[in-house]
Amino acid sequence: MARLVLKFGGTSVANIERIRNVALRVKREVEAGNEVAVVVSAMSGVTNQLVAWVNEVAKFYDPKEYDAVVATGEQVTSGLTALALQEIGVKARSWQGWQIPLRTDATHSKARIDSIETSDMARDMAAGTVAVVAGFQGVAEGNRVTTLGRGGSDTSAVALAAALKADRCDIYTDVDGVYTCDPRIVTKARKLDQIAYEEMLEMASLGAKVLQTRSVELAMNHRVKVQVLTSFEDKPGTMVVDEEEIVEKQVVSGIAYSRDEAKVTLTKVADRPGVAAAIFGPLAENAINVDMIVQNISDDGKATDLTFTVGRTDLDRTVKLLTDRRAALGFSELKPDPNVVKVSVIGVGMRSHAGVALTMFRTLADKGINIEVISTSEIKISVLIDEQYLELALRALHTAYGLDAH
Ligand code: ADP
Ligand code: ASP
Ligand code: MG
Repeated sequence: MARLVLKFGGTSVANIERIRNVALRVKREVEAGNEVAVVVSAMSGVTNQLVAWVNEVAKFYDPKEYDAVVATGEQVTSGLTALALQEIGVKARSWQGWQIPLRTDATHSKARIDSIETSDMARDMAAGTVAVVAGFQGVAEGNRVTTLGRGGSDTSAVALAAALKADRCDIYTDVDGVYTCDPRIVTKARKLDQIAYEEMLEMASLGAKVLQTRSVELAMNHRVKVQVLTSFEDKPGTMVVDEEEIVEKQVVSGIAYSRDEAKVTLTKVADRPGVAAAIFGPLAENAINVDMIVQNISDDGKATDLTFTVGRTDLDRTVKLLTDRRAALGFSELKPDPNVVKVSVIGVGMRSHAGVALTMFRTLADKGINIEVISTSEIKISVLIDEQYLELALRALHTAYGLDAH
């Protein structure tokens, strides 16, 4: 007997027929003698619709009410899934975030989990009742509903698996595992049987939305066994494992991309101590994350050009914050560019192999693709390029690193 957490994404609960299919899958695990907690997302498309409604009513909305609205998609699917289980003779009940309770901080729309009280749920599960948990939502001080950021049901599932000390956390999605690159863009992408926690963490944080970044962080810290697989077929998916467990180590194991990027260039910024702090300080104070940064010394050595990237949705606010401070910062021009993407190659093998960056630069050069900014860490190299070359770059790099399926 094992204790399992099964998470079903939006496509797996997209309509009643699919919810019935989920119920059958859960029933099989129960009949095999397992204790099961299920975590569900909203039906696919529902959260987008809820967000759109919020924006229609209030452009600069109160985040507490945003959460009150967008958390509702999961309330519907948790109730429907519990009903579908009862209909086929499986004892089940739904749990909203506040009922568990799954407590979070008060950072509405991207709250972080503080604690999960599992004793009632565990007792129920031990007595043979399947717990069907509404993913993505929690409760903050003052009993306000919170949500965990887009894609947050992955994090609900892994956090619950850690709290319940589950033997495994299965993430059912619309692809049958983690691929070497997004299979919707690179058709030659290969499914990985295993991927190291650290690689998965980089892949997720660099844009591969198959798992929410925070869920991988939690899995790594609490050593939760995570499997990514499909609910539409019966076959094993991808296991996220310790690096030591991987049999066939690749130098590069995956390529990720992010369209959520925008580039800002400030020209002729004074080259003296304190300037970078004066520029990035106001951005940090306004919760704008700066990712890549490059600085070029100008010819006269007195001024520099500074280029950096922010999330695309933060671009307008960034431009305004810096323009308002132009006199104090003393730059000449501010050039915003939202038409950029970040492409990253990832692999733990990079620690011990040279030449990975060179392959990336040569491959892009051969295709006539200009690299605008570069950043590296121990196990990844990222470049910023013009958005129009995204697909070309991904496919060329996928081939260059020998990742194409045969
Ligand atoms: P869910 O609704 O089940 O949470 P998501 O849409 O959040 O599903 O995540 C699954 C999607 O992630 C896939 O449809 C795929 O397009 C995308 N994806 C991006 N990179 C990868 C990758 N390396 N491997 C698998 N899927 C990926
Ligand atoms: N329904 C939420 C979203 O669309 C959470 C999730 O699906 O993981 O972002
Ligand atoms: Mg998701």
